[in-house]
Amino acid sequence: MLIDVRHVNREVVYDLETEVVSFGPAVTGAEISEKMLSVGRFFPHGHTPSVAVGGFLLAGGQGWFFRSWGLTAEMWVLKMEVTQLKLHLKRGTDITFGTFYPEKYDPKRISDEIQDSSTLVMAASVVAYTNSLEQVAWLMAAFSDSRLPEHLISAVKPMLCNLPTRQSAGCLVAAHICPSEINMAGSLPQEYYIAAMCCWTDPDKDNVMHEKLRHVNEVAKSVACGLYVADFNTKWPVSKVMPDSAFTRFTEIRQKWDPEESFQGYRGLNNEVQNTDQ
Ligand SMILES: Cc1cc2nc3c(=O)[nH]c(=O)nc-3n(C[C@H](O)[C@H](O)[C@H](O)COP(=O)(O)OP(=O)(O)OC[C@H]3O[C@@H](n4cnc5c(N)ncnc54)[C@H](O)[C@@H]3O)c2cc1C
Repeated sequence: MLIDVRHVNREVVYDLETEVVSFGPAVTGAEISEKMLSVGRFFPHGHTPSVAVGGFLLAGGQGWFFRSWGLTAEMWVLKMEVTQLKLHLKRGTDITFGTFYPEKYDPKRISDEIQDSSTLVMAASVVAYTNSLEQVAWLMAAFSDSRLPEHLISAVKPMLCNLPTRQSAGCLVAAHICPSEINMAGSLPQEYYIAAMCCWTDPDKDNVMHEKLRHVNEVAKSVACGLYVADFNTKWPVSKVMPDSAFTRFTEIRQKWDPEESFQGYRGLNNEVQNTDQ
């Protein structure tokens, strides 16, 4: 059964008295942002404004400045105290590296193919949210001497550099966060979030693309402690999305409330992938 929640409570309501924000699951990052800005608040949704906040928050939510403020579900929903929000709003920084072919953004191109003449580029995006330029300089100084360990670079290089199509991209975000297991099951520490974002238009390429993704994930496995749950794929070698103790508790709750297994999205979570053809 598939439930379409697109029109369920499709609104953002801000209660001036309690300062609590309520919204339906299909509300997008752009919709919630617009409403929050109109009342002088900020909600750290994901980097693509058209993504819905229902699944975003269930995954934990790597919102704007999550490196400084933590996952959105933990810092902004579970502990929705306005004093805390004001405190956190004082400063935040994000540093993200993206790899892509420049033709990715060429509106005239439609093909998935990478041209022989194209060169892979790496771009860094550093964003700071503070009250003054002095604070920007102080915050950014933290990045100037940082280096990625050599073994990490070789393990994630295929993920970032072996892009299979013109539209694909690699992404490395310095996260440095340790979500609390008391607050949420999805509490794997995130030192770096590294992802291959493969895009293709030809459905005949599905198997080849999944195989390429499986391969780069296999190589990265040696340095990964787990996988961000929003990226979960039963065919990949890394399937751990939460610490073992959280998974045990999650399993108990799931078995209690859904003994018939009506909701099967949990399958494969935290398990070793035995058969990639399943
Ligand atoms: C282009 C793009 C950019 C992205 N950027 C980011 C980013 O910057 N940061 C980030 O953290 N994530 C990002 N994501 C991942 C995104 O957060 C997840 O894909 C998320 O699941 C999308 O939310 P959704 O409501 O559409 O979820 P769906 O795909 O509809 O649902 C995800 C899961 O949650 C369940 N679910 C959804 N709503 C409910 C509900 N109300 N009650 C119970 N179960 C529910 C679904 O059954 C499903 O198992 C991005 C995804 C895309 C496609």
